[in-house]
Amino acid sequence: MKIGCPKEVKPQEYRVGLTPDAVREAVSRGHEVTVETGAGLGAGFADSDYQVAGAEIAPDAAAVFAAAEMIVKVKEPQPAERALLRAGQVLFTYLHLAPDPAQTADLLGAGVTAIAYETVTDRNGGLPLLAPMSEVAGRLAPQVGAWTLQKANGGRGVLLGGVPGVRPARVVIIGGGVVGTAAARVAVGMGANVTVLDRSVPRLSYLDDIFMGKLTTQYSSAGAIADLLPTADMVIGAVLIPGAAAPKLVSRAQLSSMLPGAALVDVAIDQGGCFETSRATTHQDPIYEVDGVMHYCVANMPGAVARTSTQALGNATLPFVLALAAKGWRQALADDPHLRAGLATHAGRLASPPVGEALGLEA
Ligand code: NAD
Repeated sequence: MKIGCPKEVKPQEYRVGLTPDAVREAVSRGHEVTVETGAGLGAGFADSDYQVAGAEIAPDAAAVFAAAEMIVKVKEPQPAERALLRAGQVLFTYLHLAPDPAQTADLLGAGVTAIAYETVTDRNGGLPLLAPMSEVAGRLAPQVGAWTLQKANGGRGVLLGGVPGVRPARVVIIGGGVVGTAAARVAVGMGANVTVLDRSVPRLSYLDDIFMGKLTTQYSSAGAIADLLPTADMVIGAVLIPGAAAPKLVSRAQLSSMLPGAALVDVAIDQGGCFETSRATTHQDPIYEVDGVMHYCVANMPGAVARTSTQALGNATLPFVLALAAKGWRQALADDPHLRAGLATHAGRLASPPVGEALGLEA
């Protein structure tokens, strides 16, 4: 199959859909891969890395889209990219169509077969193409929170791990799923005093088992959160209610109960945020202060570590890319119900009932 990988054009997106290693795997199976010049630069991959792996380098996106039977990307196609899609072409990328009627209309109009990373499932009921980015954001959260706590950044001037004779910082993590567990691993590793709250008792049991006393688990209630806020140096928001906006778990009024210069890291900001005072920020200007409490609310945290994120995403997408290329989309989806769960549009028809429900369209 002819596979194309354009350079991402969404602002602040430095990841790329295929790594040189993925290209090598595809080419060794007889597929042809075209990569747009400069596509990998943000993730530290030069055109020559792709050429050595067997890719053709194209001068622009138009050449990539024209040559490819399947486009592999990271972010949803932007309007200029949508204009290059054509009927019969396969598009494999994050789409997030439910809040995006304009993109949905364009994909339907183009007649493209679009498969959304974020709805591909696995046999445990998880979302294997979202999980790597949650792992990245979770591991990054204590790191950016520690930076936010530094005095020059408006923070309390507290070192996460303390030093001998000085107690470590207290870190409260609300939500113990993929993000929360990854955040706990790093916060514990940095020597912080960590409490994880979740509404799922089995999840709390799991965390209790794997951390073996290195953190405290607590059932997540409004009362438990209110009790923990006055002594927390850092609070990480990592909750998810599938298909819904994040619940607001810390109100503005509660900020006055917190320590001046404490850090709130709202990883759930991409779902609207779980603190009332959260608003999405960018890597250029990531933090702001409300009532003496520092907020970090970057909606695309994995972009800060584009190379790691590209490799992690690529590891997860590669088996699906190879299956789609080897079998064609129809057979690959027929053979794998988990990949089938990713089908969003085909030949002008919406194939995702939740997107149809959100946009009032037939699916
Ligand atoms: P997940 O489903 O693995 O975990 C979410 C956890 O939240 C579950 O264990 C659930 O029981 C728990 N939860 C739900 N309501 C709760 C409550 N009231 N109190 C405490 N816990 C509660 O999801 P995840 O992959 O860990 O993702 C968490 C959030 O991070 C999502 O909103 C996701 O979109 C977001 N995220 C953001 C970025 C970013 O760059 N900002 C990157 C990746 C993920």
